[in-house]
Amino acid sequence: MTKIQMKTPLVEMDGDEMTRIIWKMIKDILLLPYIDLKTEYYDLGLEHREATKDQVTFDSAEATKKYGVAVKCATITPNAERVKEYNLTEMWKSPNGTIRAILDGTVFRTPILVKGITPFIPSWKKPITIARHAYGDVYKNTEMVVPADCKAELVVTDANGVETRSLIHDFKTPGIIQGLHNLDKSISSFARACFNFALDQKKDIWFATKDTISKKYDHRFKDIFNEIFEAEYKDKFKEAGIEYFYTLIDDAVARVVRSEGGYIWACKNYDGDVMSDMVATAFGSLAMMTSVLVSPDGVYEYEAAHGTVQRHYYKHLKGEKTSTNSMATLFAWTGALRKRGELDNLPELIDFADKLEKASIETIEDGVMTGDLAALSSLDNITKVDTEAFLTEIAKRLDKKMA
Ligand code: NAP
Ligand code: MG
Repeated sequence: MTKIQMKTPLVEMDGDEMTRIIWKMIKDILLLPYIDLKTEYYDLGLEHREATKDQVTFDSAEATKKYGVAVKCATITPNAERVKEYNLTEMWKSPNGTIRAILDGTVFRTPILVKGITPFIPSWKKPITIARHAYGDVYKNTEMVVPADCKAELVVTDANGVETRSLIHDFKTPGIIQGLHNLDKSISSFARACFNFALDQKKDIWFATKDTISKKYDHRFKDIFNEIFEAEYKDKFKEAGIEYFYTLIDDAVARVVRSEGGYIWACKNYDGDVMSDMVATAFGSLAMMTSVLVSPDGVYEYEAAHGTVQRHYYKHLKGEKTSTNSMATLFAWTGALRKRGELDNLPELIDFADKLEKASIETIEDGVMTGDLAALSSLDNITKVDTEAFLTEIAKRLDKKMA
């Protein structure tokens, strides 16, 4: 068999622990036998981040800007324990945070649906994609505990030193206050990333805030989304046959629960944090949640939503068999290959990505799955397999499709 050719390299960001093991298995078993894989490799494993003083993370983000498509393995975000474990000279920042800041991107999370795993909300037939704004609000707040008999005000000082004041509360008894901010620029990037992704996926997009209560702050989000939509996207949406729909956050929650899925739900930072956990849990398994970072200028970085699966890695190190689910990591690869195929006009590569996804879903629907799914599936004949056997089972089905 002649291997599928690529034109432009994918930016490959390797990672840590069990997902690093899976990363290599996916390449060896499911990619390299079929594709003349072209990647520009960046090792974001914690040891190499330490050795390069984290420069490798910055370099990988710059390469993503240059080439347009990256695929990333899960990585450790160091905490105090990891600093000891890996003998780090510094508590390096989250690579995802660094990359997101450089690409100015928005994260879209979508579950992979398979027969036998019914969402906790049984009316959900199609995936719901959550887009979370990743800047500001309560995540960059300033808080104070206020004693009794204090007056709290918002004060904005302009370049000439002129102050504008607004009373928050005249405290007779003790209480608390919190200051939040966001930026028009960041909200605009978020809006464009959302509209571009909706066009890319040919899916409706919903956006919701609490603008009836927050008449300036949340209303600004609504206005910016509207202005950008009217000026830049209205015609494109019409042409694509998709819709932009704005409503109140509480109305959105009610509609989401009653819906059958199949759309993108754009959320403010806090709503996205909470709702993505709700949606992921209701769909069944973190191991089936894909994630893609999209920049407003159309750069894509694909990854799994889960972490490095540390507990399984320690088992693996002891020589024990693991049953770690590789679906989300595999779909990061297929997402990136398909996007590369679209950008470089390589129908064979797109077709390969489609077939690999189908083969992996069929494997699970045939009853062959890892332990996490075996515990959830309602299928009758389940064979629980280990990490590597799951991938070789996919390869068997892929071979038939490629023949
Ligand atoms: P995790 O790696 O997502 O794993 C948490 C638990 O979820 C696992 O112990 C496992 O449960 C289950 N699980 C997750 N993915 C699975 C899979 N593919 N197959 C089977 N089970 C799976 O989260 P964590 O243990 O809290 O974090 C580990 C490291 O990952 C941390 O250092 C963190 O910084 C990093 N992290 C990275 C990213 C990223 O790079 N995007 C995201 C989150 C966390 P059982 O043990 O019960 O089987
Ligand atoms: Mg959360």
